[in-house]
Amino acid sequence: MNTATPSAECTLFVVAAPSGAGKSTLVNALLEREPAISLSISHTTRPPRPGEQYGRHYFFVEREEFEREIAEGIFLEHAEVHGNLYGTSRTTVDTLLAQGRDVLLEIDWQGARQIRKTKPDCVSVFILPPSRTELERRLRGRGSDSPEVIARRLHNSREEIAHAHEFDYIIVNDNFDVALSDLQAIVHAVRQRSELQWRRHEALIAELLA
Ligand code: GDP
Ligand code: ADP
Ligand code: 5GP
Repeated sequence: MNTATPSAECTLFVVAAPSGAGKSTLVNALLEREPAISLSISHTTRPPRPGEQYGRHYFFVEREEFEREIAEGIFLEHAEVHGNLYGTSRTTVDTLLAQGRDVLLEIDWQGARQIRKTKPDCVSVFILPPSRTELERRLRGRGSDSPEVIARRLHNSREEIAHAHEFDYIIVNDNFDVALSDLQAIVHAVRQRSELQWRRHEALIAELLA
């Protein structure tokens, strides 16, 4: 059993987007620039895409195993997305936070809603594509999904986008570098929040007040 206590100084970031908006590309670029943030690797029943590795992109599991894990309560959140089950491991997130790491979840709006309930201090960001045409172009251009899967993801994008207002921040991923610096700006601003800084700089503040 995990007995780790999440550190009060660490932040749980939640990033969501309709499929193809550029969420994974943006998050991967952010993680290269922000080594203090760890990505939580989700469990999924989706089959791996070419090049995807077990434990690096997802923990790929059969539906039966996933349903058993739901019953065991191992997930902090889980949801059915595009016909597949996805879930975030509770132990992974709490262990990383207890190690003093910021943690980032790439999850859908249903998962984000569950996380807000259990981790109300989380910071959530929604990524929008610049247009419907561009979303479709990116989904096709990625070359990783069949035409049927692409059609389903495009269809589902409306429902995902309809929940964007529930997030703390919205970024439009038109120019990639601008979107990346917007995402990095959110991370930097969160780290300077006074409730965190007050604890972090306790000694400095004591000295300044002496
Ligand atoms: P993507 O659209 O290219 O990211 O395709 P994926 O098949 O990797 O993910 C499909 C959707 O499932 C995306 O909206 C993800 O945010 C969401 N997702 C991935 N992992 C999780 C998870 O652990 N929990 C929940 N709730 N959603 C997840
Ligand atoms: P998601 O994780 O949201 O499903 P991806 O990160 O896989 O999306 O991005 C979908 C495709 O769009 C990828 O081929 C990626 O290289 C491309 N892409 C991401 N951001 C941009 C951007 N700002 N301009 C053009 N193409 C982009
Ligand atoms: P991938 O194609 O493997 O998802 O992304 C590889 C890298 O290319 C990313 O880390 C990201 O920095 C960059 N990248 C992907 N798409 C774009 C884009 O459309 N514009 C720019 N400027 N960079 C991109």
